[in-house]
Amino acid sequence: MDYFEFRNGEMYAEDVSVLRLAERHGTPLYVYSRATLERHFRAFDDALAGLEHMVCYAVKANSNLAVLQTLARLGAGFDIVSGGELQRVLKAGGRADRVVFSGVGKSEDEIRFALESGIYCFNVESEYELELIDVTARLMGKRASIALRVNPDVDAKTHPYISTGLKNNKFGVDIATAEQLYLRAARMSGIEILGIASHIGSQLLEVSPFLDALDRVLALVRRLADAGITMRHIDVGGGLGVRYHDEKPIAPADWAAAIKPKFEGLPVRVLTEPGRAIAGNAGILVTRVLGIKGGEDKRFAIVDAAMNDLIRPTLYQAWMDIVPVVQQGEGRETQTYDIVGPICETGDWIGKDRALAIATDDLLAVRTAGAYGFTMASNYNSRPRAAEVMVDGDAETLIRARETFDDLVRGETLLP
Ligand SMILES: *Cc1c(COP(=O)(O)O)cnc(C)c1O
Repeated sequence: MDYFEFRNGEMYAEDVSVLRLAERHGTPLYVYSRATLERHFRAFDDALAGLEHMVCYAVKANSNLAVLQTLARLGAGFDIVSGGELQRVLKAGGRADRVVFSGVGKSEDEIRFALESGIYCFNVESEYELELIDVTARLMGKRASIALRVNPDVDAKTHPYISTGLKNNKFGVDIATAEQLYLRAARMSGIEILGIASHIGSQLLEVSPFLDALDRVLALVRRLADAGITMRHIDVGGGLGVRYHDEKPIAPADWAAAIKPKFEGLPVRVLTEPGRAIAGNAGILVTRVLGIKGGEDKRFAIVDAAMNDLIRPTLYQAWMDIVPVVQQGEGRETQTYDIVGPICETGDWIGKDRALAIATDDLLAVRTAGAYGFTMASNYNSRPRAAEVMVDGDAETLIRARETFDDLVRGETLLP
């Protein structure tokens, strides 16, 4: 459920006309709805009521400062995967003591910065990283709070690029050897064991992989308890899917209802790390049709957004809904188009074989583009990255100005 809807054939973001936003700020343009972000965050927070819990929004889904600020104001925690994301969270008013630091390749500098900032917990993904965090913490006269991110070896049944919980993925510590590593960690003077984490993938549409993973994690938690190592929290990760096409995503309430019984009688705090499910349909990408080409065999609508603005279609073969911002009945014939960008790559497409009644200069909205949209944008082909706007009721704020040529060449130098 989101707050992008049609009124008299024209798309609105909450109470603001998307057409007006495009006229004011140009295209390509990301538009976010504050109310949708709040709705989705609360869906998780409310669903876990009755359990001590913390909803840690996965920053990499959408890391615009205003998005983070919106969630920080609602009391969110944050799941980060880099020092840069930690800086963003702090700048946006997020609390360090509500931050968990995931990621397979944390550098020593990032570890030090996280320790200085006083983050809540490191999700440790390998033995060498555990050793590095231990040494770094001791040199700073601190103890680092950690959880091991275990790899429960379950199939999340999602696209291979966003599946992370199988044994042959690079993520986490093999659950079979995690017990040994916990025993080692317990003897490290720079380490304090806080909990256990797992995250098995993204865009999950079934609850069973979550339950399988949790069962394996809980079995390990009991073995560790027998060995005298008690968990203060269990981080069940993120990964709930959203609807792009005809998927039937799991509602946070249903997901919570399924996992809650497993925590009965366990005095632990529950953490979760949703990204896509909070930000996904809180955003659209608005683009203008530059021109139409082709004929009977194949028709292309060339638009001003490209794979550098939104890489999901070409990277994950993702289907994203594309709709005209203004539904114009007259003078428009429905034809089948490939919606493609201006970039010099055959892979530069946003949608294929779409039946649309469109013409040059029309505005299109790519829906459910709020997660893994702007954050994965690049400057390929020297294209400035898009502007971003946040709508709140009938108010709008430009939360990121469109990049300029000077932005593109900042830091570059000509030879003497
Ligand atoms: C990406 C990521 C998430 C968020 O995944 P979503 O599918 O966006 O919910 C959560 N935890 C970790 C460790 C991640 O890498």
